[in-house]
Amino acid sequence: MSVILSDAWLITMNKRREILEEASVCVEKDRIAAVSTRRDLERRFPAAEIVDCTGHIVMPGMVNTHTHLFQTLLKGLGDDMVLKKWFTCMTGPSGVHLTAEDAHVAALHGCVESIRSGVTTLVDFMYVHTKPGMIQSIVEAFEQTGMRGFVCRGFISTGEQYGIPPELIERPGKALGDAREQIRRYNRPGAKVQIGIAPNMIWAVDEEGYRLTRQLADAEHALITTHVAETTFELETAAARYGQTDTEFLSEIGFLGPDVLAAHCVHCKPHDIRILLHHKTKVAHNPCSNMYLASGCPPIPEMLLAGIDVGLASDGPASSNNHSLFQAMKVAALIQKGFRQDATVLTAEKVLEMATIDGARAVGLEAEIGSIEPGKKADLAVLDFHNAFMTPIHHPVSAIVYSALGHEVSTVMIDGRFVMKDGVVTGVNEADVRRRAQTHADDLARRAGSERFKKRPWRSLAI
Ligand SMILES: [Zn+2]
Repeated sequence: MSVILSDAWLITMNKRREILEEASVCVEKDRIAAVSTRRDLERRFPAAEIVDCTGHIVMPGMVNTHTHLFQTLLKGLGDDMVLKKWFTCMTGPSGVHLTAEDAHVAALHGCVESIRSGVTTLVDFMYVHTKPGMIQSIVEAFEQTGMRGFVCRGFISTGEQYGIPPELIERPGKALGDAREQIRRYNRPGAKVQIGIAPNMIWAVDEEGYRLTRQLADAEHALITTHVAETTFELETAAARYGQTDTEFLSEIGFLGPDVLAAHCVHCKPHDIRILLHHKTKVAHNPCSNMYLASGCPPIPEMLLAGIDVGLASDGPASSNNHSLFQAMKVAALIQKGFRQDATVLTAEKVLEMATIDGARAVGLEAEIGSIEPGKKADLAVLDFHNAFMTPIHHPVSAIVYSALGHEVSTVMIDGRFVMKDGVVTGVNEADVRRRAQTHADDLARRAGSERFKKRPWRSLAI
């Protein structure tokens, strides 16, 4: 089956970063066959179905390099807390009570949200394994919605002394044995959904956990992701335990490498940035979450100048409250400009690169996704820019990064299949997914003792 998306304003993100007007894209099976004029493509692909995209922007589907899909059920319960408190008094207890069905429903909802906002690749970081079947339940949600990405088998191996619920703690050997099983089950060459490995963070994983992760990743060629230097608390615990920063420690034990996607890196110092660069380690930048949890403003311009690949991310919706990369793009640009008092320090163009081609590079898929070029996978987002937020429109990249709200996304294709067409999600019944997610969210809050956050008193000033 062939499809021509015709007469669009095309943001290619190819090497020359071409923006083409009245351009058309032909998709054959799962790949982009050609980019040209409608007339030329109709001649070359006479059997292709025409989808008229006049008045629309067509851009590469975005890559969300870091989320925790199960947290979709926790939106709004963790407002106004710093990370350690947020984790130990709300997110951790919710994890303890999470079932595999909760995780499945949360992941379905998170994938629908992502598709609705033009995301076609997700990196999920799942560190709750109190019940069997968590990874499978999330993989199935990817498959049902058509999402591409990585479901990373996370774990926590220590941290009770810092308030981590003991139910969440696993022996690294056991967690990584399970990770190996999942990798061997799902990681076929070219698989749309792959399993990665995700040791949680420096105060929740011991040295053995990091060392065994590296061994398994080397043996199975799996993606690693982990939280690095997210808050000052990470740096304090790393200093107390190892006398160095978490980045220095992870480098010294041979953990870092080009297959590591380090989430956050908010408090990386110049020396840490040099270490990340040396190992070609990638970074997932979560601007909304870093602001929400008051973690800090990461040195993204310094990392970009150094040559580190930085992808964009939402983080889990317990700390960003949705999966919108449109919000992440705008906040990413604005926080750097404001904090640095330098309007040139991060441009709309760079932010869009981070959300697309740089994100693809961060997960090692730059040869397959992240731009609209013949031969690449057909992962595309179509935006209807005829709405009061995006018009009047002068520059499409500025309009996408600063004006759009995300609801402009009308059609999304992943792997050559429409996962949303003219505003309708195709793989699942969206209303049903939302209904189920609300029921599971209410029930989980009750079991986890988080209802007090739902019924919090009004608080206008300091808490
Ligand atoms: Zn995270």
